[in-house]
Amino acid sequence: MATANISSNPLASELPPLPSYTINPLPPLIPGVPDAYIALALPVIGYWVVSGIFHFIDIYDLFPQYRLHTPAEITSRNKVGRWEVFRAVIIQQVIQTVVGLMFSWTDPPAMYGKEDYDVAVWAQRIRLAQRAVPAVLGIVGLNANGLASKYLKTQPMLSGVLAGGKYPWVTQLIESDGISQIVPAFTGWEMGLAKAIYWAIIPSIQFVAALLIMDAWEYFWHRAMHLNKWLYATFHSHHHRLYVPYAYGALYNHWFEGFLLDTCGAGVGYLLTGMTTRQTFWFFTFSTIKTVDDHCGYALPWDPLQHITSNNAAYHDIHHQSWGIKTNFSQPFFIFWDRWMGTRWNGDVKLRYERDRAVAEKKIAEWKRKAESGESSDSSIPIVLVEQDSDFNASEEVTDDSRALSEGKENQPVGRRSPRKRQTADAGLKGLRERVGGGIHGRGSGLLDMEGSR
Ligand SMILES: [Zn+2]
Ligand SMILES: [Zn+2]
Repeated sequence: MATANISSNPLASELPPLPSYTINPLPPLIPGVPDAYIALALPVIGYWVVSGIFHFIDIYDLFPQYRLHTPAEITSRNKVGRWEVFRAVIIQQVIQTVVGLMFSWTDPPAMYGKEDYDVAVWAQRIRLAQRAVPAVLGIVGLNANGLASKYLKTQPMLSGVLAGGKYPWVTQLIESDGISQIVPAFTGWEMGLAKAIYWAIIPSIQFVAALLIMDAWEYFWHRAMHLNKWLYATFHSHHHRLYVPYAYGALYNHWFEGFLLDTCGAGVGYLLTGMTTRQTFWFFTFSTIKTVDDHCGYALPWDPLQHITSNNAAYHDIHHQSWGIKTNFSQPFFIFWDRWMGTRWNGDVKLRYERDRAVAEKKIAEWKRKAESGESSDSSIPIVLVEQDSDFNASEEVTDDSRALSEGKENQPVGRRSPRKRQTADAGLKGLRERVGGGIHGRGSGLLDMEGSR
C-alpha cells in the first residue's frame, strides 16, 4: 500500500471510473412465464390462501376468544350471502387481472446488465459527497487535513474521509483499447454503502412510498364514497352489506369501486414510485393480504399484520358497524389520515359490540324457536339478500349513519336496523315507509326509531 501524501497524489483527486455495461432482456423468473403474469397471479393466490386460512379458523371456530363478532352475528347481520360475496370477488379479480395484463403489454421489456454501473454511480456520489467533509469540519473549527495526516497510518479509511474522500492507495488496473492503466478505485465501504443504497434502501423507500400513495388514494376516495350520497348508494353500499366482515369479503365491492380504489390505487402506487415488475410482486401481494387481514374478523395477538401499524382488523371493523361507518376511513396501512382529518373513531366500543352480540343471539334464538314450533316454514338460517331494494338500503344506510353521527355520544342507543326484522316484519315495506313519511332518499323514518328502541 502506497502511503504518499494524500493531497499531493494525482490519483487522489480523480474519481474512480464507472464500469462499462451491456444490457440484455431480463429472463423471466419462472422460465416461460412472463414476470408480469406472476405479479398479477400472486395477489390472487395470496388472497385466497390467506382467506382460506381464516375461513378454516372461522368454520372450525378455532379461536373464539379472539373473534370480533360471534357466528350468530355473521349469520344474522350481514345482508349478503357468502356465495354472492365469492362471485363478486372473482369478478373484481378478473377485472384487475385484465387491466394489469393490458398495462403489462404496454410496459417496455425489463432489461438487466446495468446494475454494477448503477451501483458505481452511487459510489461516485458517495465519493463526491465526501469532498464537503473538510469544509463542514472547518465550520466547527476542526482542521480536517491535519486530522487526516494524523490518522493516515492507524486509520487510513477515516483519514481518507477526513481529507475529503481521498484514497490514493486504493487503485485498480484497467485495460482500455489494449492499454493497461492504473486508475483510482472505490473503497470497500463505499461499494458496500452504494450496494446497500441500490439494492435495499431505494427499494424500501419505493415500497413505503407506494404504501403511502395507496393509503392517500384509498382514504380520499373512500371518504368521498361516504360523503357523497350518490357514490355511496351506487357503489360503496355494496361493501357495507357486510356488517360482520370475514376474510374473503375483503374485496366484496361493486366492480367499479374495486377497480377505482383497489386496482387503480395499486397501479398509481406502482407507476409513481417507478417500481420494477418484480418489486410489484411484494407490493401487490402485501397490500392484498393486508386488506384480507383487515376483514378477517379476528383480533389475533400473534398475527404480525395486525401489529405493524394501528390499522388492523379491529380498527377497520369499527368502520363496518352502523355506528362507526362515518369514521375510520383509512385503509389499508396507516391511520394518520383519519387522525389528521379528524375522522378517527374515539371512545369505547365494548358496550356497542356487546349489544350487537346480544341482539344477534336473541335473533337466532327466536328463529330457532319459531322453526321448532312450526311457526315458520323457513328451515334455513336467515340470510337477508337485498338486491331487490338496494337503492332503499343504500340511502337508508346514509340516513342511519348520519343519525348515529349526530347522536354520537357514547353508550347512547343508536338506531340500528335489523335486516331480518325488515324482511319478516313487514312484507309491504313500501307501505310502511309511506305511512311513516320517510321517502326513499329522505331521512328520519319512523322505521329506524321503531328499531332503535329495541
Ligand atoms: Zn366504507
Ligand atoms: Zn371493509
